[in-house]
Amino acid sequence: MKSIKLASRESAQTTIVKVDGVQIGRDFTVIAGPCSVESEKQTIETARSVKAAGADLLRGGAFKPRTSPYAFQGLGLHGLKILEKAKRETGLPIVTEVLDPRDVSWVSEFADVLQIGTRNMQNYSLLKEVGRAARPVLLKRGMYSTLEEWLNCAEYILSEGNPEVILCERGIRTFEKYTRNTLDLSAVPAIKELTHLPIVIDPTHSTGRISLIGPMCMAAAAAGADGLMVEVHYKPQEALCDADQALTPGMFSDMMRRLRPLKTFLDQLPSWSNKSQESSEVKK
Ligand code: PEP
Ligand code: MN
Repeated sequence: MKSIKLASRESAQTTIVKVDGVQIGRDFTVIAGPCSVESEKQTIETARSVKAAGADLLRGGAFKPRTSPYAFQGLGLHGLKILEKAKRETGLPIVTEVLDPRDVSWVSEFADVLQIGTRNMQNYSLLKEVGRAARPVLLKRGMYSTLEEWLNCAEYILSEGNPEVILCERGIRTFEKYTRNTLDLSAVPAIKELTHLPIVIDPTHSTGRISLIGPMCMAAAAAGADGLMVEVHYKPQEALCDADQALTPGMFSDMMRRLRPLKTFLDQLPSWSNKSQESSEVKK
C-alpha cells in the first residue's frame, strides 16, 4: 500500500481522537441514536435513553442519503438545531453526516464529529473539504471498497491537514441476502495492522437485523474495535428511516449491560504479540 503514507501504521503513534471528554482510540466509545433526526421529541427522548444506558456520543442524520429521491431526506438545518438542543439537554457530543462540500463549514458549527457515509466515501471534493475542517471525521467504509481504497480516502483527509479520522466498518456488499450487508469483522485487526487510526463498527447497517446487532457488538469488542455506532429509536415502528433495524432503548440498554462485563474481561487478557504469531508460523 505505497500510497498510504500519513495513515500508515509506521507514520505515527496510535491516534486518539478527543471529543469533549471522550478519547476515541483509548476508551471504548459507543455512539448511539436515531438514523434520522425526525422531531425534537423523538431525538431528545432517544438521546436521554442512550445517555442513561451509557452511550458516549449521540448520532442522528439531518441530511439523509436515501436510495429513493422520494424518501425522507432529513430536516437539514432544523435537524441540526434539534441535535444542538439534545446536546444541551444530555451533554452528549454530536455525530452527524454531511453530504455536500458546500455544507461542511456551517454543519461544523453543530457537529462535534462529521460523518462521511458509505455512499460518499470516494467523494474526493467532500473528503478534501472535511480535511480542512476543524472537526474530527468519521469515515465510513464504502460498501464496495477494499481496505486499500478506504485508507486512501482517509489519506485524502489527513493530507489536507486534519489528523482526526475515525474509521467505521459498516458492512460490504456480498452475495448474501439474509443480512443487509456483510460485516467484515476481519477489517478490525487488519486496520490495526495497517494504520494508527481508530476503528469503530456499525452493526446496524451491516446486518440490517435487530437480532444480529447485539452479537455483532460483542464480536466487535472481542475483535479489538475501538467502539460501536448503533441506531436506536424511541419508537422504531414510527421511524422514517431504517425502522427495521433500530434498537429500542430497552434493547440498547440490555446490549450495554452485556458489553460492560465483556469489556472488563477482554481488557484483562494479555495483548497479542507479533512474537507469538511468528512462533506459530514457525511451528506450521
Ligand atoms: C448512517 O449511518 O446514517 C448511514 C446512512 O449509514 P451508511 O452510510 O453506512 O449507509
Ligand atoms: Mn440508518
